[in-house]
Amino acid sequence: MPIDPNALPAQVRDTLNCLHRAGHEAWIVGGCVRDLLLGRTPTDYDITTSALPGQTQAVFRDRRVLETGIRHGTVTLLAEGMPLEITTYRVDGTYSDARHPDGVTFTASLREDAARRDFTINAMAYAPGLGLRDYFGGQADLSRRLIRAVGDPDQRFREDALRVLRAIRFAAVLGFDLEEETAGAARRQAAGLEKVSAERVFQELSKLLCGPKAGQVLLAYPDILGQVIPELLPMVGFDQHSRHHCYDVYTHTAVAVDHVPPRLGLRLAMLLHDIGKPDTFSLGEDGQGHFYGHHRRSVELAEEILRRLRAPKKLREEVVTLVRYHDAPIEEDPARLRRWLHKLGPERFFDLLDIQRGDAAGQGLAYCTRIQRADRLESLARGLLAQAPCLTLAGLAVNGRDLLALGYRGPALGRALQGLLEEVLAGRLPNEKSALLQWAKENDAKKEE
Ligand code: ATP
Ligand code: MG
Repeated sequence: MPIDPNALPAQVRDTLNCLHRAGHEAWIVGGCVRDLLLGRTPTDYDITTSALPGQTQAVFRDRRVLETGIRHGTVTLLAEGMPLEITTYRVDGTYSDARHPDGVTFTASLREDAARRDFTINAMAYAPGLGLRDYFGGQADLSRRLIRAVGDPDQRFREDALRVLRAIRFAAVLGFDLEEETAGAARRQAAGLEKVSAERVFQELSKLLCGPKAGQVLLAYPDILGQVIPELLPMVGFDQHSRHHCYDVYTHTAVAVDHVPPRLGLRLAMLLHDIGKPDTFSLGEDGQGHFYGHHRRSVELAEEILRRLRAPKKLREEVVTLVRYHDAPIEEDPARLRRWLHKLGPERFFDLLDIQRGDAAGQGLAYCTRIQRADRLESLARGLLAQAPCLTLAGLAVNGRDLLALGYRGPALGRALQGLLEEVLAGRLPNEKSALLQWAKENDAKKEE
């Protein structure tokens, strides 16, 4: 299906028009063209133009233009709130460090600009009134659902090894296959990923993991994933010797990844939850495999991996919490549940139930009882939350001032508040001021300590 010009946001059409009227060529290009052809809503629009950066700035001199990547020919126009990256047609120089082009050269040719792009489906340009420019068979590959490198795949992956990861990222996100030559080259050149910065790797890995076909891609390309997370490799084919598992550790992991919602924290936690298993394996006398303390080893490895990949701290903490408790038995009991809700906070607690469901799904169909159990825990916890329970010190019906008035001082005061919270969480005391004050009075022997 051709692209409907009206599918482009007005700011994008207006920006292309301004450049055209000033005598320059200008097109939308790359991911947005691919997404429009697929009937998906583009996340952002990139524009490629024959105008040099200074000329683009001149066309938009009355508007806000940021010099975001001027060395590489990119300026960002703020078009009524929509940031648009406008990049001059360019040919990338060689990549001697397999990271950055050593230099970029501007060109007057759209075809040359398309030729520097990674995959045929990402190398198309479009402008209303002019139509599609597809020099490398991108449309045909879209309809065959194939990721194919532009030009010689080995050379393109050698120039920038990040493209290896991008190839399987697009496979996971779009559900496409890698074209055979491209797949072979991706495997051959994967070692180059070692030289790519952690930030770039993590960005692609994140998108990959959140793709609807992440599990399939993990299974098809363990060698490539193993380049960025070598700790995954011992999991591949690792027999669990367990009647509770129908899959090896890696396959179990891949299936589990697909069975949690596509949010990065959940997907990463699922990827890493059993990564400590190979290190902690022992075979019981009954022939059953055991992995005592594997969650602790998984926590250590997850910490290490996420630091190395420079994942944001908050995300790292979230993932580590979920890995730590992925196996924890949670009892179907209001007092225990209030403790969990207190310990993790409701949001993380429900994430943990997602993880337990994903983990169970990865064990095979027989494990639907574990899934049903997580469902029951979820409704029980939601029922508790609907009663607006006290889960934190701040939620207690008394505060430090009330205890000061009773004569509590210093550490004893803190201990008393903590004690009150314990009583309320356990359901032994209602969260009512009079009951709490009464308890504090009766326990006041401790207040002198
Ligand atoms: P998304 O929808 O995730 O943004 P995208 O295809 O737009 O996907 P970007 O990383 O935003 O991906 O890059 C925009 C375009 O720039 C790509 O479509 C591709 O044409 C080109 N590109 C990006 N990274 C590379 C690379 N490493 N090598 C060659 N071309 C690249
Ligand atoms: Mg993009």
